[in-house]
Amino acid sequence: MTGPADEGRRGFLRLAAAAAAAAGTAPGAGAAATAPRGVPAAVAGRAASGPGFRWIEVAQLANGAPLRLPLHEVRGRRPGPTLGVTAAVHGWEILGIEVVRRLLERVGVDFAGRILAIPVANPPAFQSQSRYSPLDSQDLDHVFPGGTGGWVTPRIAHHITRELIEPADIFIDIHGGDHSCTVNYAMGSSREVALETGFPVVRVLTDVFRGAANLSGTTMGHAMSLGKRTMGFEIGAGYQADETCIETALRGVLNAMRTTGMLEGPPELPKQQWLVRNTRILRVDHGGLFLPSLPIDRLNQPVAGGTVLGRVVDPYTLEPLQTLLAPWERGVLMMHKAGIAMVEAGLWVFNVGDLATAEVHTGPHRSADQATPPA
Ligand SMILES: [Zn+2]
Repeated sequence: MTGPADEGRRGFLRLAAAAAAAAGTAPGAGAAATAPRGVPAAVAGRAASGPGFRWIEVAQLANGAPLRLPLHEVRGRRPGPTLGVTAAVHGWEILGIEVVRRLLERVGVDFAGRILAIPVANPPAFQSQSRYSPLDSQDLDHVFPGGTGGWVTPRIAHHITRELIEPADIFIDIHGGDHSCTVNYAMGSSREVALETGFPVVRVLTDVFRGAANLSGTTMGHAMSLGKRTMGFEIGAGYQADETCIETALRGVLNAMRTTGMLEGPPELPKQQWLVRNTRILRVDHGGLFLPSLPIDRLNQPVAGGTVLGRVVDPYTLEPLQTLLAPWERGVLMMHKAGIAMVEAGLWVFNVGDLATAEVHTGPHRSADQATPPA
């Protein structure tokens, strides 16, 4: 089957071939001959302008395999700032990988500046489909800027810091929900940066982490400490609304490129955005079977205080254990659990923003479709 995505991919490959030719590399065979084993020829090789790819060697694992990070470096046709993008810092938060793939496919080399992208920032955690690395049980997002002499996870952080965060003028880290919770909101190093993402619900990073000190150790906190224009996206998971979340995040990356001159034109903003200051996370008090009360299309939508969001029942006795109610008189669902699932005590299931203390941004210049997940 062919379609728009296939057309875009072919365009990307044509641009890659053109860049290889401009660098004096024989198209096809020449690029393939220098490509690391298993690397698509289209992204192998280095050029003054165009796509490049290389592995960053981190360590050798006990089974003899190399632990390495994939670094895509794409230079645009004109000079400009450097954008750094990471995904899968938490290994099971995988939608950001697809955002990076679509970004590189969409922009080709027709931009100003340079893109540095590591689509899988935590390969051991990605391999084990978990948040943390199974090699040392550490959270990659707690150990930045990392170091060379410690466990494997801080070593990974060290290479990401040196190769991507430090050279970047703009840094974006893409996270997500878990296997059954779906999220869709963005964070920024300032109000302006948060709003320019174009997400319908945004937050300022220091509000999320309740102060700069609590950002210590995170990718975004380290980038902010270096003075970088920093964004964080929380998108998807739960196997619902994936396409909406991916496209919202892709628009966010393109908006970052527009506001910094890497792409022409103003950022695309939805008709309305909420900048949320206060949120409340709802957890499950007892393990059991979670039953949702609202469909996935309520993600990023207002929810009145007292609305039943979901229930937990005992799967053995079938007795009710907990009813989860929306906090705040007027709230907005930022994390939503819209599918039946087994839950364990303490699990996060909802995150609701307070609209009474939120800023509402609307305006006639805002024309992008509101990013509302399909029903
Ligand atoms: Zn995460």
